[in-house]
Order: sequence, then C-alpha cells, then structure tokens
Amino acid sequence: MDFELTAEQQQVREVARAFAEAELGDKIAPFDERHEFPHEIVRKLGPLGFLGVLVPEELGGAALDYVSYALIVEELCRGDASVGITMWAHNSLCTNHIATFGSPEQKRRYLPPLAAGRVLGAWGLTEPGSGSDAAALVTRAELRGESWILNGSKAFITNASVASTAVVMARTDGGRSRGISAFVVERGAPGFTSGKPYRKLGLHASDTAELIFQDARIPAASLLGERGAGFAQAMTVLEGGRIAMAAMGVGIAQAAVDQATRYMRQRTAFGKTLAEFDGLQGMIADVATDVEVARLLTLRAAYLKDSGRPAMHAAAMAKLFASEAAMKAATKAVQIHGGAGYISEFPVERIFRDAKLTEIGEGTSEIQRMVIAREILQLT
Ligand SMILES: Cc1cc2nc3c(=O)[nH]c(=O)nc-3n(C[C@H](O)[C@H](O)[C@H](O)COP(=O)(O)OP(=O)(O)OC[C@H]3O[C@@H](n4cnc5c(N)ncnc54)[C@H](O)[C@@H]3O)c2cc1C
Repeated sequence: MDFELTAEQQQVREVARAFAEAELGDKIAPFDERHEFPHEIVRKLGPLGFLGVLVPEELGGAALDYVSYALIVEELCRGDASVGITMWAHNSLCTNHIATFGSPEQKRRYLPPLAAGRVLGAWGLTEPGSGSDAAALVTRAELRGESWILNGSKAFITNASVASTAVVMARTDGGRSRGISAFVVERGAPGFTSGKPYRKLGLHASDTAELIFQDARIPAASLLGERGAGFAQAMTVLEGGRIAMAAMGVGIAQAAVDQATRYMRQRTAFGKTLAEFDGLQGMIADVATDVEVARLLTLRAAYLKDSGRPAMHAAAMAKLFASEAAMKAATKAVQIHGGAGYISEFPVERIFRDAKLTEIGEGTSEIQRMVIAREILQLT
C-alpha cells in the first residue's frame, strides 16, 4: 500500500523497518519476559531521529510530517510494541506538547535533549480517579511566590520511571476543564518522584508507573502556555497522539498477520500445510483486509493533520478501527497457531497481550465511539 508516499516518506519507512528487523522482534522477547526496559535499544532510536520526529530541525529534531511519523510507529510496533509505545509517549505526548505550546525558552531548554534521545519524556493526564473523564482530575498546583507547588498523582504513565522530563496537567483553579493548566517538570524537582513500575498484561518491556507529587516545588516558569489552557492543550496533543496510537494498532495487526502467514505455510496437518485449509484462508484474508483499511484510515488522519485541517474525527475513527483490528488479528493469529499460540516461545502470544492496550490507551474504544458519534450528530 503506497498511498502516494513521497520518496522521503518511503525512505523513512525503510529505515524504520530495517531498524525493527535488526533490533526488535526476537531480541526484545527476553526483555519482555523479564519485564525489563530495553535502555540500550531505545537509546539507538535517538541517532535515527526517531525521538525528535516532530521537533523542528533548529532544535535538533527530524522535523518530519505525521504521515512519516505514522509509518515509523507502525514499523516499530510491527517489530515490538513495547519499544513502539515508549517512542510514542515520548514523541506524541511529552515532546510534542512542549513543541506546540512551550515558550521559546522552554523549547530551547527541553527539546534538544529530548529530540536527541539524551533524555526520555513522559506525559501525565490520567489519575487514579480520572481517566476517560480527564477533566475531573484533582492534582493541584498552587502558585506560591516564584514556585508552583504540586500535590497529587498521575496513574498509568508511560515512561514515568525512565523519563527525565514530564508534562503534567494539574488543577490551578475551580471549574472543570478551564481550571486545568499544563506544567513541565524535571526529574530531581523536590517532592517529585515516580512509583514502582506496574506489572502489566502486555507491553512488559515498556515502563508504566505513577508520577507522584508531594509538595513538589517547580519554578513559576514551568507553566506551559496560559494558565487554564492545559486541558485544551491536552486535547490538541491527543489528536496527534491518537493518530500514532492508530499506527501502533496497524503495526501490531501487521505483526499478527506476518506470524500467522509464516506459521500457516510451515505447519502441516492431515498431509497439507495449514495454508491449504479454507477456514484458515478466510481468517487470514479477513484480518489482512482489516490491516489495509486500518492503515488507510491512519494515513488519511495523518494526511489531514499535515494539511492543517481538523483531524480529531478522522483520528478517532482510525484509532478505533486500527485498535480493534489489532485485537482481532492477534486473536486470529493465536487461533491459527493452535496450542503453539498459547505459549510464550511463539511471538503471537506477546502480540496478543500487547494488542489489548490499543483499545484502552489514548481514549478507550467507547470514548472514540463517543467522539465520532458527537461529530456526526453535531452534539457539543
Ligand atoms: C499501558 C498504559 C499506558 C498508559 N499511558 C498513559 C500515559 O502515558 N499518559 C496518560 O495520561 N495516561 C496513560 N494511560 C491511561 C489511559 O489513557 C487510561 O487508562 C484510559 O484513558 C482509560 O481511563 P481509565 O483507565 O481511568 O478507565 P475509565 O475511564 O475508568 O473507564 C472504565 C470503562 O468505562 C468506560 N467508559 C468511561 N466513560 C465512558 C463513557 N462516557 N461512555 C461509555 N463508556 C465509558 C471505558 O471505556 C472503560 O471501558 C495508559 C494506560 C495504560 C494501561
């Protein structure tokens, strides 16, 4: 599927594919088994420009478009979704929030090390008591003299314990969404810590933990953009984030199809390869078709974003379809493997566990359906 990719976009995809084939897949399996963050492998993303994908060149980034970004995320997640989500949270959420809403000083301070991969970024919106209903967040930020004092915690945050820079949304005023502001917080700020990484169903080689603020003191200049604009900023960040999460679904779904195809061609039963059974041919045809549809929806959303047009509706559709395609493809790939699909020696077991996150993170499937329906029905 070429969706009229430019020569540069095709080249970016080739670089990402070559990296994934050389460094991910089987090489990540031991990290996944040990629930260990693959620092060495993630570090290699920096020199490729994959940790500063959307950052302007003058600040050390690759200054690529969203179509290129989606292609990179897809290829990395086809290799391994733990590395994919690490890169996604760093680029789409933390780095992009600062690149879009930071002051010139904030951009100069934070973006070059993030883009080079010298430090990793995290982004905290979700809290123990608020996820889908993000505007109900209760982490507080109070301005005292020249400092903001933060109290509260952020739950399920990707890269929380490996990041040196975090963007967090906190309540500065009353009201719901209009009382929320965004801050950039550096590791080492007094009162700011991260929790022990969670034990998760999948994505074992990614880092997910709490960000904890106990009278955390950060400089007054840590406010990103206007006071009270944090929720609106977060929604803009999520638009691009959902496109990348859709690409994550495409990559995982493609990985499931790759594994199922390989297995169907080698495994024999009743004197034939599995590839010759009608029932399994139907399964692989259905999921391969879903992958193509998911990829087209994702690239369409990325293209809209690149052209400066509203992309929230298209991003929600792409994310909804691609994440459900990933889960379906992974389920069918396990089925095609029979008993082998249920044991960890075969990659489909990991792919199946990893796929589920795409239906939950960056807005659940129910929330995507709500966003899509509201636009169609013109509800506010
Ligand atoms: C591995 C992982 C990584 C993550 N990374 C990050 C990160 O980096 N930063 C970050 O801020 N967050 C992150 N999250 C959090 C993620 O975005 C939330 O888990 C997600 O938005 C859902 O919120 P929740 O868990 O509070 O579920 P809830 O909001 O409690 O939802 C529970 C159920 O209710 C449904 N529901 C809720 N509201 C409605 C409604 N109006 N209509 C219909 N159904 C509804 C949901 O769809 C879901 O099925 C991550 C989560 C995971 C698991």
